[in-house]
Amino acid sequence: MQIADFKTDFLIIGGGIAGLRAAIGASRFGRVTILNKGVRGESSSKFAQGGIAAAVNDTPNEINSHCQDTLIAGKGLCKPNAVQVMVSEGPRRIQELLDWGVAFDKVGDQFVLAREGAHSKNRILRARGDATGNEIVKTLHRTISITDNIEIRNGHFTIELLMSQTEGGPPSCSGALVLDESNGELRRFFAKAVVLATGGIGQVFQRTTNPTVATGDGIAMALKAGAILEDIEFFQFHPTALALPGAPSFLLSEAIRGEGGQLKNAEGKRFMDRYHPDAELAPRDQVSRAILNEIRETGVAHVFLDVRHLDPHFIRERFPMIYATCLHHGLDMVDQQIPVAPSAHYMMGGIKTDLSGRTNVPGLYAVGEVASTGVHGANRLASNSLLEGLVFGARVGDVLESVSPKISAFSDAAMQIPVSWSAQTAVKWPEAYHRIQNEIKTTMWKNVGIIRSDHSVRRAISDCQLCADVLKNPPLSRLALETGNMLWASAALITSALARRESLGAHFREDFPERERSAVPEHSALTQKTLSEHFLFESLWTSDTRL
Ligand SMILES: Cc1cc2nc3c(=O)[nH]c(=O)nc-3n(C[C@H](O)[C@H](O)[C@H](O)COP(=O)(O)OP(=O)(O)OC[C@H]3O[C@@H](n4cnc5c(N)ncnc54)[C@H](O)[C@@H]3O)c2cc1C
Repeated sequence: MQIADFKTDFLIIGGGIAGLRAAIGASRFGRVTILNKGVRGESSSKFAQGGIAAAVNDTPNEINSHCQDTLIAGKGLCKPNAVQVMVSEGPRRIQELLDWGVAFDKVGDQFVLAREGAHSKNRILRARGDATGNEIVKTLHRTISITDNIEIRNGHFTIELLMSQTEGGPPSCSGALVLDESNGELRRFFAKAVVLATGGIGQVFQRTTNPTVATGDGIAMALKAGAILEDIEFFQFHPTALALPGAPSFLLSEAIRGEGGQLKNAEGKRFMDRYHPDAELAPRDQVSRAILNEIRETGVAHVFLDVRHLDPHFIRERFPMIYATCLHHGLDMVDQQIPVAPSAHYMMGGIKTDLSGRTNVPGLYAVGEVASTGVHGANRLASNSLLEGLVFGARVGDVLESVSPKISAFSDAAMQIPVSWSAQTAVKWPEAYHRIQNEIKTTMWKNVGIIRSDHSVRRAISDCQLCADVLKNPPLSRLALETGNMLWASAALITSALARRESLGAHFREDFPERERSAVPEHSALTQKTLSEHFLFESLWTSDTRL
């Protein structure tokens, strides 16, 4: 099979908030290529509703209280220096967004600041009510369109990272192998530095708020390239996603509860004050577990989010996108209660990085949801992830200045592509892959979801191993490759969930409901080698791309 080769200075895989912001910074030092799978802008960033948390007035008190709330929500697992960086550099990054044209909502000349669970004060900026992510992404795209040096290639599905053997040193990352979705052809992109900004892994769960692109590709690529993952067992389940038969688990922002929305069980009774003094605004993990408990006790598969006591005009104005989506599914939220249940939402851990996005693999950087800087600990504070993407995206953009000006040479020798890929480029039976994906999602939701145990996690190991056994010799197609990536990401989460024999934040083990007695909770670390102690599929889905 013919492979077209391309050279760039900085290759950024993923065009959500983190990748776009990193690109703007890096463009000062060289040519930047952003690769996106699918259509432009399909990302979690685009769907972010609630807003972006920031100490807007940049006073020491505000910075301190935002840091404190983040640390408390993270249950002692946050890295305080990373939190300090995110919070204290936040106001500068917000000002930048304002300069580039993001119109955060205001009343008069004052920003409207919302409040969500576990925030001690109102500090969440929003744009067009509940369309904050879309507004920010649109503005970043507009800024990029007038910035020299950046090209965006959509429909470019990145398969894996290209590694170069350096004399005496560890292999370094020098590019990526990419499938051009428009014609099924392979391309190699070579770069001085590669940035993974591929977002989350929510699609490994049956119920998720994440878009279909969140299949864990970055996690799979990083593991195969030798990167270390950190705290990957901590996965946040959002308490309130739409629970209507046949409808997607569309997110109903925590801001609805912040504005006074109430949770009621199937008997029409409020219940959160029985679980936590902050009631509906308790930390997300506690609200999710409380809802699960109510569901178990009442035998009804959802609870209700009720805003009927609030001003209908205010609801329509404040949550236009949510209101329209509910209406589309036959629910007028100002007159009717909304059936809701928890849904997989956000990956707290990820590829371990330093404060400038460097991983342990030379030449490889990671930023945004796919990375673990340590700012979220065991439980992310609401609306901190857009901020993380912006702040650390900018930091990655800055650090790329120091990357060697010499593009690593690459051999013209034909790369080894697995025979099955060159022989077969289309999926003959897509339904077979959908079935495997469904099996992964079912076992992950049931066994490694909101409540876990040694027994349930081991069940997931054998289910995923069975899926891996079926998945040999993948054809060269996005569907097949994503299915493999979902397995890698699931295996990583499973392995770490099994190893952490305690309950902490979003990781709840019913067989170890208490925290370990150590003074400070420890971070977990995972590599492909650890994975192979439980799974026998490290040879699957890997082509020999060493140059
Ligand atoms: C419904 C919803 C609401 C949310 N609301 C909020 C909120 O109000 N506030 C907040 O702070 N956070 C919110 N979050 C979380 C937040 O949106 C995300 O954590 C954040 O946007 C992640 O940004 P990112 O740039 O890391 O990844 P993403 O925005 O997910 O972007 C990842 C990009 O990588 C690309 N990609 C992935 N794999 C490949 C591949 N193999 N090849 C090429 N490209 C690839 C994708 O196409 C995509 O463009 C929300 C999340 C969801 C799902």
